[in-house]
Amino acid sequence: MTIFVLTENSTHIEKIKKSLGKHFELSFMNSMDKFLKLFSGNNNVELEADECVVVLLEYDLYIKYNIASYFKKDEIIPFSPVLLCDNVGDTDLSRVLDTKTSLMMSLNKISNKELLIQIQLLIHNFYQMQQIQNYAFFDLLTKIGNRRTFMKNLELYFKHYQHHKTTFCLAMIDLDNFKSVNDNFGHLKGDEILAITANIMQNNCRKTDMIARVGGEEFAIIFPQTELKQAYEVLERIRSCVERTTEEDESVRVTMSAGLVKVREDYKEYTDLISNVDLLLYKAKDLGRNRICM
Ligand code: GH3
Ligand code: MG
Ligand code: MG
Repeated sequence: MTIFVLTENSTHIEKIKKSLGKHFELSFMNSMDKFLKLFSGNNNVELEADECVVVLLEYDLYIKYNIASYFKKDEIIPFSPVLLCDNVGDTDLSRVLDTKTSLMMSLNKISNKELLIQIQLLIHNFYQMQQIQNYAFFDLLTKIGNRRTFMKNLELYFKHYQHHKTTFCLAMIDLDNFKSVNDNFGHLKGDEILAITANIMQNNCRKTDMIARVGGEEFAIIFPQTELKQAYEVLERIRSCVERTTEEDESVRVTMSAGLVKVREDYKEYTDLISNVDLLLYKAKDLGRNRICM
């Protein structure tokens, strides 16, 4: 992996080369412009989404260019900064954002070996943090967002709608008579069908749609910037695909019912959307299942 280094201090450059050069590819950047471009999207450097990006940079530059502001954009930390200085004791640590995977070190006080160990530990911590985040926000079985992720996103979309009138639709989906699938074919088969269903949803939705497993055999989809008609069409595709796919699969026929609503002026809280979409889901069940009500 590559470690990006932003410094003009020749002593620091020497030390970093000696300590890390054999273990990592080092990319030295001599201008702030280059550094900022790296994280602005329109850069020449390809950053893998899940990869740990370590940047060694001078503490003074970190403060001067307000690099800390970059961390507040997303919960997922975009990179792990290692702040270089000559004396940690002199610096104002309260001005450095605690990102859990950041470090501050006095390069003149630690050995080359220590520097290497610190960086290796930092990378290890980054991947552990990432794993914890995965457990906290994603469902293990289906690999899509969990209830917590869904509720948080719905609240955010609702707030955004209130301020900017950006419309969105919400669908609540429940598999029909799923208990009997477990009873007749076993829980493992049931689990497999849950994963297949999530997959079908992902294949039929846009990247910007937010899909989550909100309960046992219950799913939710948020369709940003989408009208009811379009969202209905997507749901209908998913509904027929679930029916077909499971039919081909050892005749375990599974169907789904869904409720669909669009955000409205008279909704006071984001939870109003959930109450309303739930009513429509119950209606779909009452009308005989395997259908969408909006
Ligand atoms: P309805 O059409 O009214 O929704 O009927 P249903 O049988 O789907 O509804 P009910 O709420 O009675 O049962 C839901 C079932 O979903 C019960 C439970 O065994 C199953 N289920 C929930 N979570 C999981 C899971 O993680 N794996 C498996 N295999 N089954 C699950
Ligand atoms: Mg249910
Ligand atoms: Mg059900």
